[in-house]
Amino acid sequence: MFFDKVLVANRGEIACRVLRTCRDLGLATVAVYSDADADAPHVAAADEAVRLGPAPPAESYLKVAAVIEAARRTGAQAIHPGYGFLAENAAFVEACEAAGLVFIGPRAETVRAMGDKASARRLMAERGVPVVPGYDGEDQRDETLMAAALTVGYPLLVKASAGGGGKGMNVVRRPEDLGDALAQARRLAKAAFGDDRLILEKYVALPRHVEVQILGDRHGQVVHVFERECSVQRRFQKIIEESPSPALDDALRARLCEAGVTAGQALGYQGAGTVEFILDATGAFYFLEVNTRLQVEHPVTEAITGLDLVAWQIKVACGGRLPPQDAIARKGHAMECRLYAEDPGGGFLPATGRLLEWAPPEGPGVRVDAGVVEGSEVGIHYDPLLAKLITHGPDRDTALWRMLGALRRLGCQGVTTNRDFLVAVLRHPAFRAGTYTTHFIPDHLGGWAPQVRPAILGRRAVAATLFEVLAGQGRGPVPGLRPGWRNNPFGPEQREWLVGEQRLRIPYRATDGAGGFEVILDGRALAARAHREGDRGLALELSGVTRRFVVVVDGNRRLVRDADGQSVLVAAPRFPEAEAIDDMGGCVAPMPGKVVRVLVAPEQTVAKGQALVILEAMKMEQMLQAPHAGTVTDVRCEEGAQVDAGAVLVVVEAEAE
Ligand code: ADP
Repeated sequence: MFFDKVLVANRGEIACRVLRTCRDLGLATVAVYSDADADAPHVAAADEAVRLGPAPPAESYLKVAAVIEAARRTGAQAIHPGYGFLAENAAFVEACEAAGLVFIGPRAETVRAMGDKASARRLMAERGVPVVPGYDGEDQRDETLMAAALTVGYPLLVKASAGGGGKGMNVVRRPEDLGDALAQARRLAKAAFGDDRLILEKYVALPRHVEVQILGDRHGQVVHVFERECSVQRRFQKIIEESPSPALDDALRARLCEAGVTAGQALGYQGAGTVEFILDATGAFYFLEVNTRLQVEHPVTEAITGLDLVAWQIKVACGGRLPPQDAIARKGHAMECRLYAEDPGGGFLPATGRLLEWAPPEGPGVRVDAGVVEGSEVGIHYDPLLAKLITHGPDRDTALWRMLGALRRLGCQGVTTNRDFLVAVLRHPAFRAGTYTTHFIPDHLGGWAPQVRPAILGRRAVAATLFEVLAGQGRGPVPGLRPGWRNNPFGPEQREWLVGEQRLRIPYRATDGAGGFEVILDGRALAARAHREGDRGLALELSGVTRRFVVVVDGNRRLVRDADGQSVLVAAPRFPEAEAIDDMGGCVAPMPGKVVRVLVAPEQTVAKGQALVILEAMKMEQMLQAPHAGTVTDVRCEEGAQVDAGAVLVVVEAEAE
């Protein structure tokens, strides 16, 4: 079995990651793509690329015949399926074999047996691998399932036998709810998987999801590559994984990994696979399922062992031999965070948009597997996983600090992501202590909503303002003002920003020509010093502290990022608001209107608050008052005149101080 050209039948971060190892090994590479992905990074990363069809997966990445044809046209001899799409599709494995192509993964028979939770449970139970107490029989009549449920006990889980990705899973707490739950699960399972068979499992209390990475070769050897802890889940789907699991001691780890190897041996496993277990508070563990593919979270295993799992998949597919178990050692601690385009404050619904900034973090012990580049369009057709951040260190604290640091440095703007939510998880005492279960998110972060402290938001507004002033894009003086007009220390120079419902007004004035400013933030005058760093960078010193900002200009939006996170500021329409005009001391028309009366004349001295002009606007009369005592030096309006918003009506020179 020899090949030197591999087609990667996938997209996004996993296609990029598999292509990287292929290239490292010197293999020629072929990418496939849908119309939505013609310019995607995985296409650019391969030697050759073949279009499969339109954007919907059923018309492109899931089309077996089109993928096989792409391999034939390019002369690829092997196919790596990544994860998702065709990775666990036994018919695809058979189609590859029928076309004389090597499928880089387990045998069709293994994929088929493990694609069915009922048969997987039965096989494992026969081999002495502990399975969750439950029902996995062929008899699917309601009365059989209800009788079985009484033996299993409540609460229990109803699962689709053909299920995956947490779909069709339902917790049932009382016998009287089982009938409805069965009907609902059948409907869901039929729609999602075309197969309505169900299994029942005892709902394990305080569960942790711990899985064992296994590798098998074609010579009958199966080894484990330790475990991964994957209990931080939302909607039964993982978002943070780590290895080693904080829940295991060495003895339990040895037993669990041994069970993983037993499962692999029972299957005559070839390639990379994952045996998933659920662990309860007493340290008892139960088999859940085998995923017959590379997992999203495989990089944590690579980080602690130094192995390249994709390279091993390829080597065993070529007939290579695995190293002996005792040659596989682990070192330190690794974590992975999945960066999703989704809204954690809005039920984790997927988000779409264009990535206007993409600047992955670098540093010791930091790896980023990304499927996007700056400018990528994140659409609706595919999984919203943008990238994975993986950190490694000599111990858990170091891996955790490095992860927080990586998230802090990550530049990812333009699309809503779960970044701040990931930070909230990592900082939570239960996560830091390593004592979390699969209920961690609903228990501790159920009502989580993105929040920005007012001081942080205020600084971002100052950064957006001064970024623009330095770029020379700022608003010029109000039309009609004489240069050097100093009616008010802050004059009319200001920018106004909207963040959601909030309005932030930043009056400012240059104090020198070298980046020195005075700004008003929350009614307080602050000394600021700003200078641009490259196209998007701004260093801003405010009250003696210098911070760095990235400002991305997108139409009237400013995407402002600093070490605390990011905000989207929308430039407020430049229509001066009555409130904004206050700074200019009643000398300017706050809105379009008609001058009803002019109450002062040039050279006249006025007291602070003295009426200057009466304006009729929006069917109301409004009195404009002198902002300070001084002398009227100019009257620029006449009674009966129609004036625009922002027009200077009277100039009052302040008394010398
Ligand atoms: P899927 O194949 O849909 O991903 P799994 O069987 O792998 O479903 O389970 C997904 C997640 O659901 C697990 O990681 C765990 O959090 C939870 N889960 C599954 N089975 C049980 C159980 N018997 N008791 C408690 N939680 C469970």
